[in-house]
Amino acid sequence: MLKDTEKGKLREALEAEKGRLLQAAHDGLAFSMNRERNIGRDSIDESMEEEIFSTELRLRDREKFLLGKIVGALERLDAGTIDECESCAEAISFKRLLARPVTTLCIDCKEEREKEELSQGSSQSPGAVREDLSGDEISSAEE
Ligand SMILES: [Zn+2]
Repeated sequence: MLKDTEKGKLREALEAEKGRLLQAAHDGLAFSMNRERNIGRDSIDESMEEEIFSTELRLRDREKFLLGKIVGALERLDAGTIDECESCAEAISFKRLLARPVTTLCIDCKEEREKEELSQGSSQSPGAVREDLSGDEISSAEE
């Protein structure tokens, strides 16, 4: 069970991350609007522009995905279940939650799952994506 001060810190972290993602989404929108204005300018290499644009869309998909995770974490925080591991129902330590507020697994289950993923020959390069905010979510989303 988390203390109120601990919950407050988690809420702060989640709200800050949410704000950052919304800002990124906003910037993405500005990017697209800019692009509209640039249509017809023949100095731009079209395939290059398409590539930039599709990268932008992928980023926004990822942001949307993360935003959903953050909203989910805020809901679990309100419901008082944010520190419950969804796999073994043991408590997730506050330290771990503070580092990764959107996690739904305790460190033991997380390590277990990472081992499974490794043995399945995951092609992901070490350190990439796995250790940022989305790390837990990719595996838990598959259930
Ligand atoms: Zn667990």
